[in-house]
Amino acid sequence: MRLRTIVILALLACGVALTACNRSRGADAVTTSVQSATDSALTAYIEKIRAVDNHTHVNTVVPGDSEFDALPLDPLLPFPMPVRLRPDNSDWLAAYRALYDYPHGDLSEAHLAELRGTMQRVARDHGEKFPEWVLDRIGTETMLANRVAMGPGLVPPRFRWVSFVDALMLPLSTKTEAGATPDRQKLYPLEEKLLHRYLADLHLDKVPATLDAYLTTVVTPTLERQRQGGCVAVKFEAAYLRPLDFDEASVETAQSVYSRYVIGGEPSHAEYKGLEDFLFRYISREAGRLGMAVHIHSFEGAGAFYQAAGSDPLLLESAFNDPALRGTNFVIVHGGGAYASHAGAMIAKPNVYLDISAMTLIYTPATLAGTLRNWLLQYPEKVLFGTDATAFGPDAGWELTAWIGTATGRQALGIALNEMMRNGEMSRSRAEEIATMVMRTNAVTLYKLPLK
Ligand SMILES: [Zn+2]
Repeated sequence: MRLRTIVILALLACGVALTACNRSRGADAVTTSVQSATDSALTAYIEKIRAVDNHTHVNTVVPGDSEFDALPLDPLLPFPMPVRLRPDNSDWLAAYRALYDYPHGDLSEAHLAELRGTMQRVARDHGEKFPEWVLDRIGTETMLANRVAMGPGLVPPRFRWVSFVDALMLPLSTKTEAGATPDRQKLYPLEEKLLHRYLADLHLDKVPATLDAYLTTVVTPTLERQRQGGCVAVKFEAAYLRPLDFDEASVETAQSVYSRYVIGGEPSHAEYKGLEDFLFRYISREAGRLGMAVHIHSFEGAGAFYQAAGSDPLLLESAFNDPALRGTNFVIVHGGGAYASHAGAMIAKPNVYLDISAMTLIYTPATLAGTLRNWLLQYPEKVLFGTDATAFGPDAGWELTAWIGTATGRQALGIALNEMMRNGEMSRSRAEEIATMVMRTNAVTLYKLPLK
């Protein structure tokens, strides 16, 4: 999920509310409430693990960077924000204190002016190294960057690219599909724009006349370019556009729909679905062949017209069970959210993983710990740490949500593992081993990262 402009002006206006909170030790806002529930030695151990963050929309150092997401949510505003993401939540203040050594317990106008000065100075001092400086501050060794393209400041090995591939699934007119909801009306044209960018990269100005030519001269070459550009995974944000039921579809049906409408006209929903289903599996198979994992957004938001039921990971079971796709590793991004137990059922498949991104920003550590516990008791090698870090406006850059999500993830893991130790479900050494797996080594193995 990507949430950008939650208008930090609101945060400024909210200085009053934050002042009212007036926490004397802002940086500890997230930590103190859960400290007592966890073993302090285990907490200290988890704090020191150099993390791999499976999912973020980190920005480059280019002012006004707009390539952080294929489907930014700004056009979908306004919609209700969950409490932890609201501007008056004390986690923001805690993040300022932890990252920028902000000395105050409030965000008064005068203090905020001082903070802005500090943030500008830090950005200026570090220049293109600013993103790496952030990773060092939050204890993250490698951050996956789910972006349209990489750019200044985001270089391997600290940052690894995850591209977007929904656009490749939509070679025909999407006018009918876009008419389904007001949100989709705004999102589909962005996919069309991205497809044209991919075509331009290949020196093409339109899609070819047949599906076979489309696969061999557009889809596969685009995926190959992304792999050569350093992609470790490709991402589908499809749940914003349609339900995740990518059923089996025959190549003949896909070919005939493609040929009929590539010259013009509007395919019906059923016709387009058949073509998309075919292309989803083709793209996933090719990604696997090229050594890239497939990330799939699965969460109960966002947007005022988002269809939560369409993001249920169980809808993906037929694709996950496709023997032709067993060479592809899938990651259920955001752990299925409200469908966390369904995601837990899907990671029983040999090639399916999940991450806790967005959950680490939206759920509290205690809530997330309960979910983690169920997964970790069954398939600890399939669970990946992630934040979904993204910028919320000029005074709330991606580094703040990276800090909040990382702090929450470590705390949730501590609570879950501590409870499992207390219940006699695992030893201290196994708890440390699982913490390292979730924060780091499961991703190292999945993406074959050159880290120990
Ligand atoms: Zn995201």
